[in-house]
Amino acid sequence: MQSAVLRKSLQIAGLAPICQQRKIASLSALSDTHQMLQKTCRDFANSELAPIASKIDREHLYPAQQIKQMGELGLMAVAIPEELGGTGLDYLAYAIAMEEISRGCASAGVIMSVNNSLYLGPLLGYGNEKQKAAYITPFTTGERVGCFALSEPGNGSDAGAASTVAQDKGDHFLLNGTKAWITNAFEAEAAVVFATTNKQLAHKGISAFIVPKNSKGFSLGKKEDKLGIRGSSTCQLIFEDCAIPKENILGEPGLGFKIAMQTLDAGRIGIASQALGIAQASLELAVDYAQKRQAFGKPISKLQLIQQKIADMALAVESARLLTWRAAWLKDNKQSYTKEAAMGKLAASEAASFCAHQAIQVLGGMGYVTDMAAERHYRDARITEIYEGTSEIQRLVTAGAILKEYAS
Ligand SMILES: Cc1cc2nc3c(=O)[nH]c(=O)nc-3n(C[C@H](O)[C@H](O)[C@H](O)COP(=O)(O)OP(=O)(O)OC[C@H]3O[C@@H](n4cnc5c(N)ncnc54)[C@H](O)[C@@H]3O)c2cc1C
Repeated sequence: MQSAVLRKSLQIAGLAPICQQRKIASLSALSDTHQMLQKTCRDFANSELAPIASKIDREHLYPAQQIKQMGELGLMAVAIPEELGGTGLDYLAYAIAMEEISRGCASAGVIMSVNNSLYLGPLLGYGNEKQKAAYITPFTTGERVGCFALSEPGNGSDAGAASTVAQDKGDHFLLNGTKAWITNAFEAEAAVVFATTNKQLAHKGISAFIVPKNSKGFSLGKKEDKLGIRGSSTCQLIFEDCAIPKENILGEPGLGFKIAMQTLDAGRIGIASQALGIAQASLELAVDYAQKRQAFGKPISKLQLIQQKIADMALAVESARLLTWRAAWLKDNKQSYTKEAAMGKLAASEAASFCAHQAIQVLGGMGYVTDMAAERHYRDARITEIYEGTSEIQRLVTAGAILKEYAS
C-alpha cells in the first residue's frame, strides 16, 4: 500500500526529540499522529524537495520522481479513506503536511494540493462507487495526478458565468469551450470539468463531469510561463465536440456550482497551508541569515529594526496558522467552515507575501539574487493571493458571513 512508509513512521514512538527539532508554536496542541506526520513531511521536504526546488523553478520542471515519493508516503491522498487507497487521515493532517511540503517546495505543494482537494475531494464527496474505483484509487499513488477545471478565459472570480457548454445528446454529453489556468493540466490523466447543461438556469445550470485525458475532442493549450510555482504546469483545456459518456457526470445535473464551491472551501485550507509553508521558510531564512550576517561589529539580529521584522513575520505566520488549523478542525468536526477557510487563506496568503518581502529586506543584496531562496519565496507567495479565490473574494466571503451572523 502506497502509504505504508507514512504509517510506519507514524508508529514510531518518542515525541520529545521532535518537539526539540520543530521550533513552531502550538505544537503541544497537536496529537501524536499529527506531530509524527509533521516530522515525516519536514524531513522529506528537507532531504528531497528543498535541494531540487531552485532547479525545477529555473527549468520549469515537473518533479515527477518527488511526487511519486510523496505518493509512497501517502501524501497524494491524505484525507481519502484507506479502502479507496488513501491514507485515511483528517484535514488537519492534510493542512500540516501541505505546509511542510510547501516549505520545501511550493511547486510540489500546489501539485499535491490540487490532487488532494480539488480533484480527489469532489470525487470522494459526489462520485458513485464505480467512479471512485476508476478515478480515485489510481490517483492516490503519485503516479497519476488529476486536475480541476472551473476558470475560463472570460471568468475566474465570477465562476457562475461559465460559458463552456455540455449538450445532452441522449447517451452522452457534448462539451464545447475552453478552461483557463488549470494547474496540473499538462500531467493530469483526468479532470473534473465544470460546464453548463442549462444556460437559462445560470449557475444552477452548471454540472460537473469527469473527463479522462484521452477523450476525443479534448486537447491542451499552451503551458503558461509564470512568475512563480514554475515546477507545476498551468494550461488551458480545450473542448471541441468532446463526447463524454453520461456515466461520467459527477452527482446530479445542475449540482456543479455547489460541488465547485464546496470543493473550493476545502481547497482554501490547502492553499492557506501552502502559503504558511512559504511564510515559514521565509521566516527561517531571515532568522538564520540575521544571526550570521555581521554589520557594525555585530550580527544584524542584534539590531532592533531587524528584530521588529522577525517579530512581525512570526506574528503573521503563527496567527495565520491558527486560523487555518481552526478551519481544518471545523471541517474534521463536520461544522460549517466556509468563513474560517476564507479567513485562513486570506491571512496565510498575505502572511506569505509579507514574510517573503521582509526576508528579502533582511538579506539585503543576497535576498535579490537566485543564490538564495528568498527571491523564489517572494515569487511563489504571490499566487496564493490569487488562486482558489483572490484576496478580494476571501474578504467578500468573510464579510458576507459576518453580516449574516450579526443579522440573525
Ligand atoms: C497559476 C494559476 C493556477 C490556477 N489554477 C487553477 C485551477 O487549477 N483551476 C481553476 O479552475 N482555476 C485556476 N486558476 C484560476 C484562478 O482561480 C483565477 O485566476 C482567480 O480565481 C481569479 O480569476 P481571474 O484571473 O479571472 O480574475 P478576475 O476575476 O477577472 O479578477 C480581477 C480582479 O478583480 C477583482 N474582483 C473580481 N470580482 C470582484 C468582486 N466581486 N469584488 C471585488 N473585487 C473583485 C479580483 O479580486 C482581481 O483583483 C489558476 C490561476 C493561476 C494564475
